[in-house]
Amino acid sequence: MSDCKNPETTCNTKTGTNFTAYETGLRQDWPAHTVEFPGLGEIPGKHFLKGAIGLTSCEVSINSMAPGAGMPIYHKHQQNEEVYIFIQGKGQVQVDGEVIDVQEGTIVRIAPNGERIWRNNSTEPLLYIIIQAKENSLTQYGLGDATVPEKAVTWPN
Ligand code: ZN
Repeated sequence: MSDCKNPETTCNTKTGTNFTAYETGLRQDWPAHTVEFPGLGEIPGKHFLKGAIGLTSCEVSINSMAPGAGMPIYHKHQQNEEVYIFIQGKGQVQVDGEVIDVQEGTIVRIAPNGERIWRNNSTEPLLYIIIQAKENSLTQYGLGDATVPEKAVTWPN
């Protein structure tokens, strides 16, 4: 699975009645994923997961931005907020002209109307996950949404 270049067709996906497990490949292979953006051409290192795992409540992308690279345009959203979870490297996010230094462990939430760009101004890859979900759509969450079946924990082996 480390040579996972085209996950839609060649990578392992395991599905059950209530789950989809999907291999994106090792983090160092994330730059091989590309997304075609109208008017922007091919964006390397970005991989949307909605289609791959059948997401219905949010969009998630995994991202690897090369040293010196940056988003070439600002964008906003119509109804979705975004959460940027930085898991490796260093860079900067700019929202409405304000610059936020980010690094492994930084999490940034951006409201739909925020004009955003980000860049990797370091010498190492910048890895991050973006979650996009409809603002104000969350009505119950965390343990407040959980139910606990009366069932002893077992494993097949
Ligand atoms: Zn966005």
